[in-house]
Amino acid sequence: MSAPLAADDALAEAAAAGIHCLAIPTPFLVGRVNCYLIDDDPLTLVDTGPNSGKALDELEQALATHGRRVEDLELIVVTHQHIDHIGLLDVLVRRSGAEVAALDLLAPYLGDYRRAAELDDEFAVALMLRHGIPAEMVQALRSVSAAFRGWGSGATVTRPLGDGGRLELRDRSLEVLHRPGHSPSDTVFWDERRGILLGGDHLIKHISSNPLVARPLDGGDAAARPQALRTYVASLEHTREMPARIVLSGHGEPVTEHRTLIDERFALTRRRAAKIHGLLGEGPLTAYELAQRMWGNVAVTQAFLTLSEVLGHVDLLEADGQVREHEQDGVVRFEAVA
Ligand SMILES: [Zn+2]
Repeated sequence: MSAPLAADDALAEAAAAGIHCLAIPTPFLVGRVNCYLIDDDPLTLVDTGPNSGKALDELEQALATHGRRVEDLELIVVTHQHIDHIGLLDVLVRRSGAEVAALDLLAPYLGDYRRAAELDDEFAVALMLRHGIPAEMVQALRSVSAAFRGWGSGATVTRPLGDGGRLELRDRSLEVLHRPGHSPSDTVFWDERRGILLGGDHLIKHISSNPLVARPLDGGDAAARPQALRTYVASLEHTREMPARIVLSGHGEPVTEHRTLIDERFALTRRRAAKIHGLLGEGPLTAYELAQRMWGNVAVTQAFLTLSEVLGHVDLLEADGQVREHEQDGVVRFEAVA
């Protein structure tokens, strides 16, 4: 492999290949979301930004700098189910008549977004109560989540994509790879000929992509919680093997040294797991108590995130035989195995 590219050079190389980064504002902590216009046949947009007038306005301006309008879009590709990536789907599809391509497992979710979001909230409530988050905080989070729902939207997926399949455009053939972990539906699109990976939020340079515990796309309940971090680690191991020169991320700069970055993420995971194991030396704790000891009293809106982080690392420790859990009165506590 040649020397890693600087971020600006990576964007320039992507642009030369017809892939233009459009950074669209979001009202969320994460800041702007990167959508990508692929100047090809069909004219393709990867991800949409959140459902807001401001996001739509800036998307239209960004398209205009490339001589395009919303009405020109012919295909919209979705990398995953989070609202900053799917929010304008409904508006864009209605205005352009574009086809929608997404992982086949995600099609029912996008096809009935309101219902899916409602089920996600129910799942999250059960999970939070089970892991010791106080009931009033769970209620507050549920209200926040309900208010956030309007930033998302759905659409009929007209081109469902299978893991390992291909998305063929005139000038490129993209391999479709399911890389769950950050969300259950993370999908990356691999242009092997150019060494360019459209990565969504699977890998982000400046922040670790929180593996949020989420309702499985095929159902599931809080008692058998999905092991988001273990799933994510397995996905990263696959991506690490790929000879990607440029990973175009859903947020921030492109990643040009993905192996180094993935190794940093693995090291962080090991450090956090060791810290959590140490905290359990005090005696059994709920995931909520562990989160408080790790990060203090975080803002209510961050409570689900930190719960997910703790559960992810506890899952690793359990799989390693270092921690076991027991349940009493519907609440789970973890203890270190002596
Ligand atoms: Zn995102």
